[in-house]
Amino acid sequence: MIIVNKNNKLLKALILLLNTGVAIADTQDRTDGSHCAYTPAAHTAEATGLIVGAEVLLAQGSRADQGVHIRFNGSLGLVGEFDAVREALPNAAVLDCRGGAVLSPGFVNAHEHPAYSHAFPDPNLNPGYVHRDEWRLGVNGKRPLPIPERLDYEDDDPKTAAKLLAMELRHLLGGATTIAGPGGLPGVIRNIDRHRRPGDPERYDAEADVEVFPFSFRAVEDLRTECAGGPAFQFPPPSDPDLAFMAYVPHVGEGRKASCAARAEVARYLKRVQRRDRRYALVHGVATDRADYAVMREFDVTLVWSPRSNLALYGETVDLASAVDSGVRIALSTDWSPSGSFNMREELKCARRVAATTGVALPADRLWRMSTVNGAYALGLEDRYGTIAPGLRADLILTAHVGEDPHNAVLNATDDDLLAAWIDGQALLLSEALPESLGAGPCVALDDMAPRVCGALSRFGLSPATFAKHVKDAVPLNDVSRQAPCNPQVEAVEP
Ligand SMILES: [Zn+2]
Repeated sequence: MIIVNKNNKLLKALILLLNTGVAIADTQDRTDGSHCAYTPAAHTAEATGLIVGAEVLLAQGSRADQGVHIRFNGSLGLVGEFDAVREALPNAAVLDCRGGAVLSPGFVNAHEHPAYSHAFPDPNLNPGYVHRDEWRLGVNGKRPLPIPERLDYEDDDPKTAAKLLAMELRHLLGGATTIAGPGGLPGVIRNIDRHRRPGDPERYDAEADVEVFPFSFRAVEDLRTECAGGPAFQFPPPSDPDLAFMAYVPHVGEGRKASCAARAEVARYLKRVQRRDRRYALVHGVATDRADYAVMREFDVTLVWSPRSNLALYGETVDLASAVDSGVRIALSTDWSPSGSFNMREELKCARRVAATTGVALPADRLWRMSTVNGAYALGLEDRYGTIAPGLRADLILTAHVGEDPHNAVLNATDDDLLAAWIDGQALLLSEALPESLGAGPCVALDDMAPRVCGALSRFGLSPATFAKHVKDAVPLNDVSRQAPCNPQVEAVEP
């Protein structure tokens, strides 16, 4: 029996002093404040996976003293009262963290740009833009922002692999087990995008059409005449009308409400969704208003909200009060590191700041839903990810139960509080106090983070030293000091 306790500094020091990594004691002796006790499988040959005992965040609410069975194939098996699950599966290993930890589905970050999310914000970033085309293309006389180098994974390029791995570990450390958007690595965090080329099925575990812009790469120019009172502009029809089996998750209305082009994009998109022919989400939607939320709610369109990126670029974000009031489904996402949050926990903080500034109540369980099941729904993948239920994939985060509210324990966890993160039942992050045998592979400690990384570095031929060398110029794993600001009260600045 192995007892672990990360909050008790004295015990932690003793553990380190003894250089054992774990403290050994009888389960009956587990002291107050211990997080977990580990019992290996009784009969290895008949092992049936791992039961995690904890307070569990379920779709219907939090439940204490639950058992969650992670099957050997990476899916979730039994979920129920701990004693009943243990009785049903006597040969499973057990990580009993009841009273000490909270088990949650990993966050589903429904909108990222993994190929670019290694880069810091530009020093000239300020919220002076009215429409996305201004910072992308420099239209309307605005200063364009430099587009970071696009990083794509190649088997034989350890430097790029290291930077992409740092991006994925950063998100994992921030609680996300899934990120949607083009790019990333095979086999670490769960990536979602459309399969376009051979090799994509290995990198993208599931599909959603996260095409960036649904109408045009130069909407302001295309709509200039229409916005000056001329005839309505006709965009070409969508290029892939045969993809209705997957969710459509494009950027729409990425500009201030005062931007005619942004408003026109929203209006066009909300006509399209009325076909009800597929799952639709609307990313950013800074220019959306109360009437739009009513349409979105009626036609089941999820608003994918990235408040930090919106505020950093445009000085405003969605009308949160109206959106919440309307009941439209909202999913949180980070956008990208050049203007957005470095991880989902930082996005949650920004969302809370916007809510506080605008007098909107966003309780912890609602924010948690926005970060888990709503993200999966936006991607049309709620039957696989974002919830703890039998048959779904075992994408889980286990955090110390700090404070009263179990949802807040997950939303506010620091990396010291993160005990484990599983994707497909493989533990990629593991607290130093948990046995390495639980890990997806050899566990290594990195300078910038508390939990060890298991199996991920060796997969790309990296050691902690080569990894550190290759990522020294990239956004760090666990330092958000150079992240774009989240200032809901900032006044828009005209350059
Ligand atoms: Zn984006």
